[in-house]
Amino acid sequence: MSLDESYIYRKEVDWSLLHEGLTIPVRIQMIFRNLLNEYERGVGRGITLLVDGQPYEAMLINQNFDRERYPRHADMVQIRFTAKSGLPQKLQQLFPASYAYLKKEREQVQRRKVRLPEDSREYFVLYTTARQDVLVVEAITQSELRMANTMLAGMSEVEFERYGDFARRDESASIVMRPQMAKVRKLDRSIGEDLKTLYDFRCQICGENFGKPYDQKIVEVHHVIQFVLSMNNDYDNLMVICPNHHTAIHKADPIFDRESLTLSYPNGYHEVLKLDRHFKV
Ligand SMILES: [Zn+2]
Ligand SMILES: [Zn+2]
Repeated sequence: MSLDESYIYRKEVDWSLLHEGLTIPVRIQMIFRNLLNEYERGVGRGITLLVDGQPYEAMLINQNFDRERYPRHADMVQIRFTAKSGLPQKLQQLFPASYAYLKKEREQVQRRKVRLPEDSREYFVLYTTARQDVLVVEAITQSELRMANTMLAGMSEVEFERYGDFARRDESASIVMRPQMAKVRKLDRSIGEDLKTLYDFRCQICGENFGKPYDQKIVEVHHVIQFVLSMNNDYDNLMVICPNHHTAIHKADPIFDRESLTLSYPNGYHEVLKLDRHFKV
């Protein structure tokens, strides 16, 4: 991953993404924070989206809500593009299976909101570049997800989270498979890095920043439901913890309750997360 590329957002492919754009809730993406401060609601600026190395023109718009009426609503930005930009056509080409499915569903049932079936969702992922007005789009398709799934088979979760850059498993794979593996791993890593920053490299369980005296970033990212089984790297499935707590969790295998933010261990021990900035927001 290039140093300039950091994760912004992952969007499940749907009809409007393939035609006009997407809405992004703003959490810690500084790039959008600035936009919200600079522009009035409904106003924005032109940006370039890089897809397969090709530039496409789009608009980044402050889609914020009426703060007085919806004080608790997340800040929002919108990315809009027109058919003239060529981007809808490009996205429809990148996600042919999703496009065909959504089109057929919409013709059959007159529903406006059609989602892809759970086992065939595909994703549009946005990363930053060194330039504020240029963002990179990556397509994570079913074939990539299936490929990653195959590569992960038999790998332990700890192995994946701590060392899983696929390098070892990749040795026997064909050269064609490598970029596809890399995409899924890069997405997982980037979301994790984003969260580590959100917690300022502290452990959500003990609240400590263990690496601080050493000027090291030692905190780790744990998947609540095993990634090697679920392939789920949503924020909701990630927890930022120190290596000790990470080891304890994998050895003792607690159950995590999201409501009470409690880990319950088989021996009867319970512990409540000291820090939470993303589960119950
Ligand atoms: Zn800890
Ligand atoms: Zn873990």
